[in-house]
Amino acid sequence: ARQFTRPLNDLANQWNTLLSAMAGAERVFEVLDEEVESRDEGAAVKLDQVQGAVSFQNVSFGYDEGRNTLEGITFEAKPGEMIALVGPTGAGKTTLIQLLSRFYDPSGGQILLDGRDLSSIQRESLRSHMAFVLQDSFLFDGTIRENIRFGRLDATDEEVEEAARLANAHSFIMRLNDGYDKVLKHGGSGISQGQKQLLAIARAILADPSMLVLDEATSSIDTVTEIKIQEGLQRLMQGRTSFVIAHRLNTIRQADRILVLKDGRLLENGSHDELLEQGGFYSELYHSQLKRAAM
Ligand code: ADP
Repeated sequence: ARQFTRPLNDLANQWNTLLSAMAGAERVFEVLDEEVESRDEGAAVKLDQVQGAVSFQNVSFGYDEGRNTLEGITFEAKPGEMIALVGPTGAGKTTLIQLLSRFYDPSGGQILLDGRDLSSIQRESLRSHMAFVLQDSFLFDGTIRENIRFGRLDATDEEVEEAARLANAHSFIMRLNDGYDKVLKHGGSGISQGQKQLLAIARAILADPSMLVLDEATSSIDTVTEIKIQEGLQRLMQGRTSFVIAHRLNTIRQADRILVLKDGRLLENGSHDELLEQGGFYSELYHSQLKRAAM
């Protein structure tokens, strides 16, 4: 499970370091912008609005030459759909997400967003339409309010609180000494893993992106918090194209589409019922692992 988050968290950690090193978050964005911009092709465009239609067309990618990590991946996601990525460790789920967010570009095939080739879109612009809720969502040294506001820097205190309410984070925040002014240190020591997730959800709700990437927690979270997280995620995913690296059967069943990856290939693509009907790898996985895990 750790492996899912590693590459995505590398980026989060870079932000973290920058944030600790500097006074204002705006400054951080400037620095990141310059860095990102210089890597973009000259003709790359900014996107004002994103519907969230995603199309992978025969996409291949390898970290090392001569060996493809993803091979011939083809699927469509309609705006607002929830896509669950399922498959064993090392199958390529994280890599697929990294291509979608342009941490890497495909070596073969095309990825389209709203019909436009992803490689023609500025990385910074693309990511401004995405939010990430990861197993270890990064929190920087600052107050809870500042950490949520990181989703949208010009948000008012009322908007921060509204997002926290929708995320089901408000009640736990209010129980803390200092509430929204509580200072988090060292990536949020003093609050639980589940509470960190609730803050990440609040931050993403505030950001109001068209696309979401969720990496579902595998670590055990108490039942009450887990229910709050699920509710918060439901509200967050509503109307946004969501890619979920999913471990829980409940989450997977809810998905509009399940992409089953194995050894870098897309083995199966369909709803829970369709895939059970097919009686292939997903069905096997379901009967041997998922069903048991859900009981
Ligand atoms: P999953 O998320 O399904 O566990 P990953 O996309 O993380 O799978 O990994 C797919 C394959 O790519 C694995 O064999 C993994 O070791 C390899 N891989 C992942 N990241 C890198 C990297 N930065 N450099 C080289 N190989 C990598």
